[in-house]
Amino acid sequence: MGMGAGRGRGAGGRAGAGPPKECVCLNCGYRIPHQPGIPCRQMQCPRCGAPMVRG
Ligand SMILES: [Zn+2]
Repeated sequence: MGMGAGRGRGAGGRAGAGPPKECVCLNCGYRIPHQPGIPCRQMQCPRCGAPMVRG
């Protein structure tokens, strides 16, 4: 019935937690907690030294 003009996003159900704050190694799968301010790509796996990506 009402005009559903994109006003109000749902009932605020999902909290904006954002993406998981972890970095994962592409090479061995090692995971480390993401450090704020440092992109995962700049991190190196402590195990094998490979570049890491967002987990
Ligand atoms: Zn690794």
